[in-house]
Amino acid sequence: MEKQLEIECTHCGSDSLLLREAVYEGFAKAGEKLKCSSCGHMFESEEDVPFKVKAKVEIFDETDKSPRMEVFSEDEKGVLCRHCRHYVINPFTQWCHRHRKEVQATDSCSDFAAQEGVEKGEDETAI
Ligand SMILES: [Zn+2]
Repeated sequence: MEKQLEIECTHCGSDSLLLREAVYEGFAKAGEKLKCSSCGHMFESEEDVPFKVKAKVEIFDETDKSPRMEVFSEDEKGVLCRHCRHYVINPFTQWCHRHRKEVQATDSCSDFAAQEGVEKGEDETAI
């Protein structure tokens, strides 16, 4: 895929395409003209081009940050239900003792509380 060409022109306000025209000085390419294909407005530089924002990029928008994302920015392994002291496992279900609901071992939770005094490999708390 080439550089993105879809723009929302700030000049004519339409969904448009960016036209790139090479500018020559003598025989050497001196630069590019960046032009709106529908109204012909010229953009000063690449930074001024109102490229359409793709959905993929928007995921990382500040406004889009969910608490879930923040959890994963911490120690990822640390907040999984299976490492939580409220996590109870029995043959039939996996249970969160704090929220009194079924959970998955790989769920994460904002009320996560680390297990204490549990060594690795011994986290089957008998309840
Ligand atoms: Zn335009």
